[in-house]
Amino acid sequence: MKILRSNLTFCNFRTKQVDDFTARLLEIHQKMMAVNKKEDIRLGLHRSDYMLDSETNSLLQIELNTISISFPGLGSLVSELHRNLLIQYGKVLGLDSERIPRNWAASQFADALARAWSEYNNDRDGRIVSVVYFRAGYAPNDYPSEAEWRARLLMEQSSAIKCPSISYHLVGTKKIQQELAKPNVLERFLDNEEDIAKLRKSFAGLWSLDNQEIVKSAIEKPELFVLKPQREGGGNNIYGHDLRETLVKLQKEQGESLAAYILMQRIFPKASLTPLVRGGVCFEDLTISELGIFGGYLRNKDRVIMNNPCGYLMRTKVSSSNEGGVATGFAVLDSVYLTDEVKYIPTTHF
Ligand code: ADP
Ligand code: MG
Repeated sequence: MKILRSNLTFCNFRTKQVDDFTARLLEIHQKMMAVNKKEDIRLGLHRSDYMLDSETNSLLQIELNTISISFPGLGSLVSELHRNLLIQYGKVLGLDSERIPRNWAASQFADALARAWSEYNNDRDGRIVSVVYFRAGYAPNDYPSEAEWRARLLMEQSSAIKCPSISYHLVGTKKIQQELAKPNVLERFLDNEEDIAKLRKSFAGLWSLDNQEIVKSAIEKPELFVLKPQREGGGNNIYGHDLRETLVKLQKEQGESLAAYILMQRIFPKASLTPLVRGGVCFEDLTISELGIFGGYLRNKDRVIMNNPCGYLMRTKVSSSNEGGVATGFAVLDSVYLTDEVKYIPTTHF
């Protein structure tokens, strides 16, 4: 939460001027700041996504999700499905089912919600709403009229635990991700130098569009970058030719619209030939994978009750697709198989 108090307002100020949706969220956040809204209990259900950068062989973070985290349920079921298939057919395939790590994402997230509920009800009579969990509210379409915005504000003003609170929601914006990657910013929130170095190693190149030199490089070599607006849910990123055109247009306008986007180094994972199943049909294609690590965080005032990894989500997509969403139709659910060395494992992915 330290991030929010000191950083959110300033780093999103310019974004706010050009992005109506983020502006509305920030407005709610500012209202809460103005009345010094007390939020003793904080609950975060997160997913941090990574891709394996083939050049450095390291996992680089794609983004941190803090609202409506998808697939703790189906993700863990697919791991169990793959494990069961290997229990049945592992011998024939020469694969060991124990090498698929256990994935308890669904029950661990449920446990976090239950613990938040009981924390809240410790000294209350249990007849009020204790936890508000958002399965929507992260995209402009979720607010077709003023009524939805009023509801969002009302929930924020309530004493219920919000998962996420407005500040937690905003921490998941691409703009905050880019600000955190600036020199000396992590140092403001973490004391341990080793932790800082480890975190920084997982950051890809991230830049604001104020950086003229990077904008110039991205126009020259758009294939090495991804241009991202302040949106969640897939299908919003800009690549290649469109990226160049958008940057040239934004530069011409010379206005504040540059602040609505961030630029990110494009990560290139190694592609492998994989059988995929979609709608009951199996086909083979070159694919790349994205690993998400679920995390649960629960705090009551200064007492941290839970701060754990909660399982994983593996998504595999055809390498020719820019986007990664399963629900949006770009990717399929998958599992991790641990090996002692890097080798291609011909399992089927759903
Ligand atoms: P969203 O909030 O819409 O999920 P993401 O930042 O996760 O936005 O981007 C959507 C998808 O685009 C990712 O799942 C991934 O497949 C792809 N992607 C995003 N950033 C990069 C990057 N830097 N390099 C390569 N692919 C990326
Ligand atoms: Mg994503």
